[in-house]
Amino acid sequence: MKEDKARKAKRAAAIVEQLKKIYPRARCSLKYSNPHEILVSTILSAQCTDRRVNQVTPELFKKYKTPEAFAYADVNELAVDIHSCGYHNQKAKSIQGANLMIVEEYHGVVPDNMENLLTLPGVGRKTANCVLGEVYDVPSMVIDTHMVRIMNLLGLTTSKDPKKIEMECMDIFDKKDWIRLTHMIIDHGRAVCIARRPQCSMCSLSDLCPSSMA
Ligand code: SF4
Repeated sequence: MKEDKARKAKRAAAIVEQLKKIYPRARCSLKYSNPHEILVSTILSAQCTDRRVNQVTPELFKKYKTPEAFAYADVNELAVDIHSCGYHNQKAKSIQGANLMIVEEYHGVVPDNMENLLTLPGVGRKTANCVLGEVYDVPSMVIDTHMVRIMNLLGLTTSKDPKKIEMECMDIFDKKDWIRLTHMIIDHGRAVCIARRPQCSMCSLSDLCPSSMA
């Protein structure tokens, strides 16, 4: 039987309550100390682990201290500095281009809304939502691979399209939980609902999950 929106929302609320119990300290694992640093870290995190990004950024942020420093950097030198994060040439262009626009169009301030964030080179909804949630406390959801996989397994979407999943999740999860939800799902995806080998017998969501094999 197809689950209606009210039932789905009720199940979504129960899932969040369970996740809060299991991952009370779930938070963004990227290290940053100001808005442009989280923007740079999030660009670097594409196709790369947060752990690797956190190994690279302390030196990077020491060398490039401001949006201006990134904006007027030598892009080839910047690519070498971020080499170990992969896709270094493309990421260097994005980081430089985004910071140049922040400096020249937005008076050196990282935009605080989706529309303007999406004008920055290399910034898509995932990066924009990360900045909005982390820096500006704007209710937002980052749809990464864990969110795509686990929201499908939980039967809360049937889509693989991150934007569609974001809209569907915003419709059923309470706004106050949006920012935390992503971090809790990422922790769950790393610890229990692991790609290709979900540990359903150890999962506290198994009673709420139609894919449970427990
Ligand atoms: S019950 Fe299994 S498939 Fe469902 S969330 Fe838990 S680990 Fe993932």
